[in-house]
Amino acid sequence: MKKILVTGGAGYIGSHTVVELIEADYTPIIVDNLCNTSIQNIQGIEKIIDKKIKWHNTDCTDKSAMDKVFAEEGRMEGAIHFAAYKAVEESVQNPQKYYDNNMGSLKVLLQCMQENNVKNIIFSSSCTVYGMPDVLPVDENAPFKKAESPYGETKQLCEKMLKEDSCNSVALRYFNPVGSHSTALIGDCSADRPSNLVPIITEVAIGKREKITIFGNDYKTPDGTCIRDYIHVVDLAKSHVKAMEFLINNTGKHAFNVGTGIGVSVLDAIKAFEQTNKLSINYSIGPRRDGDIEQIYANSNLVKEKLGWEAKETLEKAMISAWEWEKLKE
Ligand code: UDP
Repeated sequence: MKKILVTGGAGYIGSHTVVELIEADYTPIIVDNLCNTSIQNIQGIEKIIDKKIKWHNTDCTDKSAMDKVFAEEGRMEGAIHFAAYKAVEESVQNPQKYYDNNMGSLKVLLQCMQENNVKNIIFSSSCTVYGMPDVLPVDENAPFKKAESPYGETKQLCEKMLKEDSCNSVALRYFNPVGSHSTALIGDCSADRPSNLVPIITEVAIGKREKITIFGNDYKTPDGTCIRDYIHVVDLAKSHVKAMEFLINNTGKHAFNVGTGIGVSVLDAIKAFEQTNKLSINYSIGPRRDGDIEQIYANSNLVKEKLGWEAKETLEKAMISAWEWEKLKE
């Protein structure tokens, strides 16, 4: 069975990917120091797959600790690199923390890969690299705009690092991941107070927040609220399995959008949550949020053509699973 190193494998997208890797007969090896997730996800993975998972409690920026992981694991087919900080606002307040960790962990991983002859890497990138695209739906040839935050800049810089390295790489540019595994045993355990739309909706639903403020309804969109492409996290996880298969059979540098291609407004997302879960969400309209882009959604033709991947889950299913996770998480 092919071993795949999964940094950040106990995180939100990482844990879902570990489950999909196992279902596709890979052997994922998790490297995660749980700095922004919980042991709950490791335990959840083990319950879903009904066996123990190999996990190194290791900081990816620590070269000598990573050397030990590589020495212990021996031959590996590739790495999937999720380990990174992801809070946009925090990155504005503390940019150095983001440059050090997000760039530092990729640097160490690439060094270890080179020294151990591991050639394939999949990187968690983001549609944030495009800023507000000139053409919608946005495709992979769109230019990178000036980053709106240090977080976004680390994604652009990491893609550049990959291009300059000798590895074979796929950068997966995620649109907006939402939802959870159907068992509700794994999900987003990050300590950050949620700043993303769907976790805020679920916090309102459960009573942790009184209401959600919609950041602006005067955009040039049909209902005036911003538009995003919300992708079910299980679909997103599956794209990593396809990308790994692709890299095992192809060399070179690649980047793919991973989205549904469907633009959904903030109001549509709230309505979808309300209708599927038969709940009412208290919201009000507030001012625009600094740095928000008006609309973005994916042209996903390339990922379909090259990886044979496309989104299968619906927004409705994502909203149901998001609510189940909110109710069950510790
Ligand atoms: N949003 C909102 N209120 C909130 C959080 C988010 O209106 O409390 C909107 C936000 O303006 C954006 C969309 O929801 O249009 C998705 O925001 P999120 O932070 O989840 O993702 P990103 O903006 O990074 O794509």
